[in-house]
Amino acid sequence: MLNADLPPIKGFLETSFIDWPGKLCALFFVGGCNFRCPFCHNHPLVLAPEGMESLNFEKILDHLATRKNWLAGVCISGGEPTLSPGLPKMITRLKAEGWAIKLDTNGSRPEMLAQLLADNLLDRVAMDVKAPLTQDKYERCAGCPVDLSAIQESIELLTKSGIPHEFRMTIVPGLHTEEDIVAWARQFDHSCSHLTLHNFNPRTTLDVLFEKKQGFTPEIFSRMSALLT
Ligand code: SF4
Repeated sequence: MLNADLPPIKGFLETSFIDWPGKLCALFFVGGCNFRCPFCHNHPLVLAPEGMESLNFEKILDHLATRKNWLAGVCISGGEPTLSPGLPKMITRLKAEGWAIKLDTNGSRPEMLAQLLADNLLDRVAMDVKAPLTQDKYERCAGCPVDLSAIQESIELLTKSGIPHEFRMTIVPGLHTEEDIVAWARQFDHSCSHLTLHNFNPRTTLDVLFEKKQGFTPEIFSRMSALLT
């Protein structure tokens, strides 16, 4: 039976080696997103989640129980999971089964993030901060109007949270320059926040024009990554 008041799980990966640094985790993909990043790889989840079958949460829980010995936690990704009012309920249920939780978010719903943090429902968070917090740059990367005060509030919540967290940015030729990376990195408290850049990969993008682009060369990407420190 599908639980209608829980976030719609549109995808499930039993084992991910890359979504929780140093740990093996299971991965949930929640449908729906309020951004339209042109470089997004998960666009079916963003543009047409209603056309995708929702998976049965109870069945997934039962399955996860058989993997307890070698999985360290569950990463909830999307889409944008914080759009779903039922997210605290889902995480509470996972926590009751003993699972540590990592959340992937675009940071646009600080009120949900604050609730999850206050209720001790999160063990790790990765927040995508798409660009330096200037309106035009950010909206070009997010593909839609963005409330930058909400993004700033989420950054502050995580910075003060005391839980492991990272701010990450996918960098795309034509959208991000070396100056942007320097300005982006200045926005964070380096003493408590981990910063990561991801290089753009043209494999299946929300805006098909981006499939014609290339990522940065390894040399340029490495030079840009060095700007974070
Ligand atoms: S990359 Fe952008 S559009 Fe895609 S899921 Fe993340 S925030 Fe949403």
